[in-house]
Amino acid sequence: MIWLDAHCHLANLASALPFEAAFKEANEKGIKGFLSNALTKEELKWYAANAARYGIIYSAGVHPNFPPCDLEYADIARLCQQQRLWAVGEIGLDRMNKDFSAMQQGFIQQLDLAAEHKLPVVLHIVGHQQAAYEILREYPLRYLIHGYAGSTEAFRLFLKLDAYFTISERVLKKDKTLLLSEMLESKRYLFETDITRYYLTQGEINPLLRLIDLAETVSQRYGTGISELKAIQYDNYLLLRGIK
Ligand SMILES: [Zn+2]
Repeated sequence: MIWLDAHCHLANLASALPFEAAFKEANEKGIKGFLSNALTKEELKWYAANAARYGIIYSAGVHPNFPPCDLEYADIARLCQQQRLWAVGEIGLDRMNKDFSAMQQGFIQQLDLAAEHKLPVVLHIVGHQQAAYEILREYPLRYLIHGYAGSTEAFRLFLKLDAYFTISERVLKKDKTLLLSEMLESKRYLFETDITRYYLTQGEINPLLRLIDLAETVSQRYGTGISELKAIQYDNYLLLRGIK
């Protein structure tokens, strides 16, 4: 059984540290699967050159609220056509983006693309949870809702979809206790670091290992054994990829 980092930005990270060594160490510690994300055209070049040799799979999407994201719909369509992506995303809705109608339109356009190519979708949903749910329920797609830390009510709503969730450091906060316990009960979780170079902390040698620290913290707090967490996240990975 392996650990998977179900949401990370490895091309972005590789621009800030000796990636080869960090990757090798993560592998040795059992983190052997990476569902990485591209946010820029520059990062796509990195994946084209490196993804296969590292055994990394990646997704790409026009992000709802990340100004450095220069990807356009045409890039995503081309990558789908070339069968480069395991999923479309991260895409979604974000309350910080004030042009709701353009954001919603871009979201729907990319969901249509995922449906056309029968690909899962990686979702970034910050605020607008009800609106997102109303859109998503119209599609027969598999979803990975990454870094979810919204309301518990909306979480229950998203459970009605064919959706999986990543547990991130964001849900370790005290006011997210109920949400995290419901995520664990749902058994529909994976783990993520969401690591980028922006999230590196001073003196940190290998941020990829945060995944195991996160799982250990969850295990200690909720009394779920590490082997159970590991088995469930792996099972969900297979379901999400349509392998199982
Ligand atoms: Zn991300």
